[in-house]
Amino acid sequence: MSSSAIELSLKGSSNMATAHLKLLSRFLFGGETRFDGSCKKSLEAAFSSVIKRQEENSSRLPDLDGMKAGLKSDRESSVGNEGLLEMAVENLEKNRFKVVVAGSLEEAFDAAVCAIGAENFVVKSKSNITKEMRLVERLSESGIETVETDIGDRVLQLSGERPSHPTGPVSHLGRDAISGIISDASGIDVPADPETIVGFLKTEIRDAIGKARVGITGANAITASEGSVVIIHNEGNVAEVSRLEKHIIIADSNKIYEDLASALNMVKLQTYYATGSVTTAYINIISGPSRTADIEKKLFYGVHGPKDAVVIIVKRGVQAEWLKESQYCIGCGGCLLECPAYLEKGPLFGSAHKQGGIGVIDSAIKEGMEAAYDNGLYSCLKCGLCKENCPVSIDTPRMIGRLKEEAANNDRLKKRLRPLRLVANSVTLAANARGVLGAFSTKGKKTAYFPGCVTTVNTPEIRDAAIKVIEFARGQRPSVIEGCCGGAWDSFGFAEEREKGFDEFSKRAEESGAEEIIVSCPHCYEILMERGERLETHGVLRVLRFSEAVGGAEFAVSDKGLKAAYHDSCVFGRRYGVFDEPREALKKAGARIVPMEREREKAPCCGFPLILREPLSAGPIAQKVADSAISAGAEKLITSACPGCYYAMKRTSGIEVEDISVYLSKKIIKRKEIL
Ligand code: SF4
Ligand code: SF4
Repeated sequence: MSSSAIELSLKGSSNMATAHLKLLSRFLFGGETRFDGSCKKSLEAAFSSVIKRQEENSSRLPDLDGMKAGLKSDRESSVGNEGLLEMAVENLEKNRFKVVVAGSLEEAFDAAVCAIGAENFVVKSKSNITKEMRLVERLSESGIETVETDIGDRVLQLSGERPSHPTGPVSHLGRDAISGIISDASGIDVPADPETIVGFLKTEIRDAIGKARVGITGANAITASEGSVVIIHNEGNVAEVSRLEKHIIIADSNKIYEDLASALNMVKLQTYYATGSVTTAYINIISGPSRTADIEKKLFYGVHGPKDAVVIIVKRGVQAEWLKESQYCIGCGGCLLECPAYLEKGPLFGSAHKQGGIGVIDSAIKEGMEAAYDNGLYSCLKCGLCKENCPVSIDTPRMIGRLKEEAANNDRLKKRLRPLRLVANSVTLAANARGVLGAFSTKGKKTAYFPGCVTTVNTPEIRDAAIKVIEFARGQRPSVIEGCCGGAWDSFGFAEEREKGFDEFSKRAEESGAEEIIVSCPHCYEILMERGERLETHGVLRVLRFSEAVGGAEFAVSDKGLKAAYHDSCVFGRRYGVFDEPREALKKAGARIVPMEREREKAPCCGFPLILREPLSAGPIAQKVADSAISAGAEKLITSACPGCYYAMKRTSGIEVEDISVYLSKKIIKRKEIL
């Protein structure tokens, strides 16, 4: 540490009383969470560096898929496993831990206060469950001063803001913001220099550790077979906090693993997904209080470490089966790194203690549907990038979709969801009217094309071009089924209306006499595919994607050499694994596809679902895709016949955007014999 940092620290310690008063007032009156342009830049830079490190280190984890499969199976068998909890308690106690199984956060707090005893000063290290308990604030209200010992958590403690990542809580703050927070709290001017900032905090934290007799930590894992607690850290603070006279460990029952081997597999994955590194600086495995039997083989406790070690396990209630998967989360933050909504909204998307889509789910479970709504239930694009980047492949978009259905049936949210109902209703009405009038629907062919309501209402050029291309590729003009398949309702969680809409669509399909339906909109494709059996009862035997239906055609290749980037739709791509099919069709029509930095499974979302509700977030999300195409050297960005992607991307700047159907329609070789 530089001498200036020491000097600042000494001056600062006398001002910390003021800091704690400020802190208390923030806790009592609620701290604001900032997320301005500078926070956004800091967050993006921090997350990009993690992704870069992951890419650099990926070869050092050659069996990543095997490790992930092992973790998933461990989580499936351990979460909610009463027998494992009992085994863990028994073996922890054999190792001389005092164990409290708390039935609620309230009980856990009482147990912590009881374990702290007469002490009025404690130090603590990172633990997400204690954030959920508001442990530090509540201890402070009870007259017990607590100092966070992780650098990032200490900064947050002083600012009263929400964390922006489970292991890198101040990823959204740059050096200027942090120096401002510390200067404000300490009353002295701490320069915006990372080394000085760390030096200042380090000295302050070290003083606090030197003064404390009780240390509180979380646990990354508790192993049932061995009765051990596993804690990972980089700063070295946990080793010190856990070696005071008393060590209190507070952990969620979901942190229980069968044995050390499974816990260490999780720890490696958590580290890689959180930081991109293959290991943390420290892995502490604690199996009871400090002890010696060196003198006449007589056991003596509290040698260089704690005499008392208390484990408080917070037992979680049973979740509905469809939500259980959310409890498999290991808190690595991998899902946040490329989440388009999170990169735009930061910690404002998610709950106060768990970020992003999984945080929204967590708040629905723990705080109710209104909290989930306030925390961004409708900010989630259901793009699936979180699942792609999750070591446990947690299907966050599936649960978000189901929660939207719960929200739609929640009386207290009805008024707030009225604008969404209005949007779904007007799009559906406009599209269905065309079908009902019959002027736009046609019948009598074995093959029908279904453009879907958003295409019909917002991007009719896709519909017109798709009909032309299908006619060219298949030698016969298809029938056209206009209307909505229920998808417009599905987007907002109105399940009852969705199913009604689908039934009406099915009848229209039956009336058309079609045996196969070609779909250009990915969302319609998903709705129809998921209800294939019901469609069959209406005589529809097959549903084809547009690119699947026309991929075999020979197009004109007059402008061979056009450099084009292809934007994968989240549904056709990540959901159905269709990546090559549209690219092959485009290549046959002469396009030279240039790869973008993030595409295929990693393709970013266009942001369309946010266009109406949060246009200020939707614009930048789409522009990032356009910028990526520009960086790849593309002359044109081609979208995937998805009306949403096309609509969103058309609003970007710097590159021409064209839909695949329109592009291919311009490459049709004129043939007189077309029927
Ligand atoms: S589905 Fe997309 S927007 Fe929603 S949480 Fe996952 S990554 Fe974020
Ligand atoms: S949902 Fe998955 S990626 Fe996100 S924090 Fe949990 S385990 Fe990590």
